[in-house]
Amino acid sequence: MKSTAEKRNLQKSLLGWFDREQRDMPWRDNRDPYPIWVSEIMLQQTQVKTVIPYFERWMRSFPTLKKLAGSREETVLKHWEGLGYYSRARNLHKAAKVVVKEYKGKVPDTYDTLIQLPGIGRYTAGAILSIAFDQQVPVLDGNVKRVLSRLFVMQSNGVPAVHENRLWETSTELVPGKRPGDFNQAMMELGATVCLPKKPLCRVCPLQKRCEAQQRGVVDQFPAPKVRASAKKIEVSAAVITRGGKVYIQQRLHGGLMGGLWEFPGGKREPDETEEVCLKREIKEEMGIPISIAKKLMTIKHSYTQFRVTLNVFWCPWKSGRIRATQCEQWKWVKYEDLSQYTFPAANAKIVKSLLSNGGKF
Ligand code: SF4
Repeated sequence: MKSTAEKRNLQKSLLGWFDREQRDMPWRDNRDPYPIWVSEIMLQQTQVKTVIPYFERWMRSFPTLKKLAGSREETVLKHWEGLGYYSRARNLHKAAKVVVKEYKGKVPDTYDTLIQLPGIGRYTAGAILSIAFDQQVPVLDGNVKRVLSRLFVMQSNGVPAVHENRLWETSTELVPGKRPGDFNQAMMELGATVCLPKKPLCRVCPLQKRCEAQQRGVVDQFPAPKVRASAKKIEVSAAVITRGGKVYIQQRLHGGLMGGLWEFPGGKREPDETEEVCLKREIKEEMGIPISIAKKLMTIKHSYTQFRVTLNVFWCPWKSGRIRATQCEQWKWVKYEDLSQYTFPAANAKIVKSLLSNGGKF
């Protein structure tokens, strides 16, 4: 690691650059921990320009932790629709309730307490403590990892946990006692705007002279490219079941993937099934009723992080029977115009958009 003088110079160069170049972001207006917390959760896996309108709408609807804690989960999820990874919103909501109940609505300012809250890990705790409470605590996100691995030519030795620990240690050593929050934000900002994954802008980098990868001409080797498993493909049949101007939707089980969101019923096609046979079987299993298929409405392709789905959507006018839906939290018949009040996973949201655009005429 660097000598104290080298560390100070690095901190000074980076903070000077941050003072000149930092981007305007609505959560940088003040040091209130609540908006900083919300922004940090939204920014996980999502780019700044996407987050800004969501953040502003969120703060208009839930200006305080108390207001958030007292809101219905459905309303909270609706504000997250389109950002993905809905467990982030559910955990934020749960954590707000804990803070209101156990800490009189004040965000805790110790690491050990913060880390106990749903959805807060080491990174988020570090960001809140350093930015909102001015504490000398490090952060390590994808951007910071990339910057550190290039600055100090740190390569994984094949054991990811060991590499991660070394990066945390380096981040801990570097964060200064003065302006720790600004320093952490500067590291993240440098990774997001200058030390880019491909073609980093080394010529305008404030750390160029202190960067070992740059000095040795090996920037493109850091970090080593990840070997990604190819995304799994699945094919699903889904039913738009209609009855007297209404459509059937059901809420996914809370504990599972995309839990708490609403969807059209259906399921995965087995290798030996046609799309229609799959749908009839799934509806029988999920709802306990037979269906008649009138026609195919659309095919939707959507990529999630872990898999790619092809959704074959069929119109099924109501036939008969008593619904016994066993694999969902609850189910409802909903007017087409009310569908937009519910939160759907991205692929199902495309069905909703299509139904809303043609007013439920097939
Ligand atoms: S000099 Fe280049 S590689 Fe090194 S930190 Fe700056 S942008 Fe990243």
